[in-house]
Amino acid sequence: MQPLAAMTWEEARDAAAAHAIAVLPVGAIEAHGPHLPLETDVIIAQAMARAGAERLAARGLHPVILPPLSYTAAGFAGGFAGTLSLRPETVTAIVVEIAAGLARHGFGLLAIANSHLDPAHLSALAAAVQRAREELGFTIAFPDLTTKPWALRLGEEFRSGACHAGRFETSVVLAERPDLVRERVRAGLPANPASLSRAIRDGKTSFEDAGGPRAYFGWPADATADEGRTLIEALGGILDQAVQAERSVDVGQPW
Ligand SMILES: [Zn+2]
Repeated sequence: MQPLAAMTWEEARDAAAAHAIAVLPVGAIEAHGPHLPLETDVIIAQAMARAGAERLAARGLHPVILPPLSYTAAGFAGGFAGTLSLRPETVTAIVVEIAAGLARHGFGLLAIANSHLDPAHLSALAAAVQRAREELGFTIAFPDLTTKPWALRLGEEFRSGACHAGRFETSVVLAERPDLVRERVRAGLPANPASLSRAIRDGKTSFEDAGGPRAYFGWPADATADEGRTLIEALGGILDQAVQAERSVDVGQPW
């Protein structure tokens, strides 16, 4: 399974002709507590893309992983140094234009492996899915992890909404890039059970106002690499199922 960026154009042409499924990891450059790197969501999205692509390949499909989209709307973390936030309409435009290129060259579908949960970002991706369908006749599979049934598979902390740089995300980074976890800081971090999803429902628009003065929520001290590996498999399963759901809608597609 070769990533798109490593292919020659002729290899990409052949992959597109076989109606390959393009997989776009989508993360953010955003504050993730005092213990995780700014690229945490990019790391998680790439792990999800890889695990999902393995499942698609096992079904006999042809997944091709794209270079990640690392910049996006990240307004909640905007007050923390290093966070680089785009306007939501910029994000929608980028994804629609990537989809247009894939459609033009014959790819069968775009699957988004997204791990960044800022509401403005999720809305921007949902808008891209709709525009790609309406303007291009092209399908984007985008499982929004904050919705059922997906959220139910990602652990108790995730369901509670205290899910930013906590046990869930820290576990995945421990599995993927342990060298980037500030372990001494992490081990001593007190739990922050404040629920981001509740704060969003209450109209809050920043991590500070949501009760996260150090840009983390949840239980980072409880994270383990083993749990991270289990979560990556769960994320891969979600991506696979989201693609299967789109394929069953588009009966008659050759992929
Ligand atoms: Zn994150």
